[in-house]
Amino acid sequence: MVPKRPLLRERLGFLYCPPWRIQGSSVAGESTVVQVPELDVVFDLGWCPRIALSSPLAAISHGHMDHVGGLPYWFSQRVFQKMGVGRCVCPKRLEQPLMDMMAAWSPVENQDTPYQIQGLEHLEEVDLKPNIKLRAIEMLHATAALGYVAMEYRSKLRPEFSDLPQSEIRALKEQGQAITYELEIPLLAYTGDTQMCTNLLRDEFCNARVVLAECTFFDPNHRERATIGRHLHIEDLPALLEAWQARDIILLHGSRRTSLEQARIRVDEVLGETEAARVHMLMDHRKNRIRYDAQVEETAQSSNQVVDELAADP
Ligand SMILES: [Zn+2]
Ligand SMILES: [Zn+2]
Repeated sequence: MVPKRPLLRERLGFLYCPPWRIQGSSVAGESTVVQVPELDVVFDLGWCPRIALSSPLAAISHGHMDHVGGLPYWFSQRVFQKMGVGRCVCPKRLEQPLMDMMAAWSPVENQDTPYQIQGLEHLEEVDLKPNIKLRAIEMLHATAALGYVAMEYRSKLRPEFSDLPQSEIRALKEQGQAITYELEIPLLAYTGDTQMCTNLLRDEFCNARVVLAECTFFDPNHRERATIGRHLHIEDLPALLEAWQARDIILLHGSRRTSLEQARIRVDEVLGETEAARVHMLMDHRKNRIRYDAQVEETAQSSNQVVDELAADP
């Protein structure tokens, strides 16, 4: 008899929520790694798939092995592949232990891997891209934990000056008047592991366009497990969805105790059809593939339409 092939290890989840690709894998207790290439960030590194290397910043939510196990490998591979020194942000309490971990690798490998590790406090920010910063938000888990929100900053003209001609605005600016204010736009939020907490209802989460949310348990009998492990349960989601305006909410960190089919049924049952329509599961490969094919089809159709319209135009 021919023995079974091993399961394909790099079977990554993938969702396109324009303009962002959300890709990675996430199973409770095993590993979580979620990369958003367009934002130059990878959230957590439970292990290190090849795709994670291209993100120059790793935002670690907390110190559980399923979220941090791939970090030293990521630092090492980025340097080995000449992609520059990786930069990692993490909860402040983890900064020293993670540096100790990297120091422990030196005698193991008999060489030093360059790395940057920066602990963040609640509401501290680091630069992601020009005009976009990553803001840390304290979460509530079994150990010190942060969620993260990518925030865009736009400089806007103060409304009291909006009717003035350009020349006057320029003159005011030259006189040193503050003619603009900064508008904060939450783009994409990542909860990391957490139980229900008030910070999940902060504006950054409520107004983000996409929320990547932990949801470990789906079974009604697993409420106590959620409380003990300090995780979210699908029955916590209705309150969150009521507050979150996001057009896409992506559930991560599902437990293997519940099959995808059962989880899908529970999402519909607990959230109702309308709300469930904006909820996706990163690891639901089949459903995500159908969604992606429809997106490709839709784009093809609209570009055909443009071609038709141009052809019709004399
Ligand atoms: Zn976890
Ligand atoms: Zn955890």
